[in-house]
Amino acid sequence: MEIVVSGIRPTGYLHLGNYFGAIQNFLKMQDENNCFFFIADYHSLTTHPTPADLHGNVKQVLVEYLASGIDPEKVTLYIQSDLPETAELYLLLNMNAYMGELERVTTFKEKARKQPDNINAGLLTYPCLMAADIIIHKAHKVPVGKDQEQHLEMTRTFARRFNRMYNVELFPEPQAFNFGQELIKIPGLDGSGKMGKSEGEGNAIFLAEEPKSIRKKVMRAVTDTGPTSPNSPKSEPVENLFSLLRIVSTPDTVQYFEDQYNSMQIRYGDLKKQLAEDIISFTAPLRERIIEISADDAYLSKVVKIGADKARESAAKTVKDAREIIGFRKF
Ligand code: AMP
Repeated sequence: MEIVVSGIRPTGYLHLGNYFGAIQNFLKMQDENNCFFFIADYHSLTTHPTPADLHGNVKQVLVEYLASGIDPEKVTLYIQSDLPETAELYLLLNMNAYMGELERVTTFKEKARKQPDNINAGLLTYPCLMAADIIIHKAHKVPVGKDQEQHLEMTRTFARRFNRMYNVELFPEPQAFNFGQELIKIPGLDGSGKMGKSEGEGNAIFLAEEPKSIRKKVMRAVTDTGPTSPNSPKSEPVENLFSLLRIVSTPDTVQYFEDQYNSMQIRYGDLKKQLAEDIISFTAPLRERIIEISADDAYLSKVVKIGADKARESAAKTVKDAREIIGFRKF
């Protein structure tokens, strides 16, 4: 079985884009691989969150992943800061990472531009921490988006450099996980691009969102003035609503609105009402589980402890070996 490692950003409430994009992939992976999924709270510190926000976001993401079906018995689900071994390996990797190569990383340059008042060393050495997260479990595969490919390349560089420096084969070079199909993109409600938390108010529907609020957002979704001729192509905002409908509604419902559109009889208000109700039916059981798990502190602390213990088993061995190799040896 291949070892897969993936980090989850503690961003708080998850939306339908996260659910159909990231989480569905996690569910597939957990059945077929030996997975280590961790909530990346050390990484979060580069943006200086308040302690309450950090804790709240970690909890929310943990709860929502569990509610979505991530099974802590199948995978090792842990919180990054519960594994100080990661911090130690990060320190060791920092010693062999060069300023020049770190400064050239695209995401570092972007972050530095975005937060010019807080260009901290953690931002610069982000690739070292990410490499530590991955190679600490000797991962073979890492599911990464386009924006992370450069980081994964650096992980391979650091792994190779360590192996070469000490003439060992301690760390395998991890490869990008390939899902074998196009990654799904869930559009937002604001008429453009993709559903995202930071795309502006009303663009995203959250898994834990109340029905009333879902109705309000969907009814306010951007459309156009209607089809201009029979069977005309749809504008992007309208196509987006149809895409969402295809995900949460029955094929009959989708066909009904397709026909209405093609015969120019469509009323977007009706389409939105149906879409809102079908989103609500889809999210209702998830929302219920989120509320239930969120209130169950005993369960959460058990999950987190089991995850940390399992992660430690794998990480402690790697760090012990690395220490020995480097020359930190017992007297
Ligand atoms: P974010 O916290 O926005 O970076 O999202 C975390 C992960 O969720 C991303 O790496 C994607 O895999 C997935 N994701 C986010 N938004 C969407 C979307 N609109 N459609 C599909 N997947 C998404």
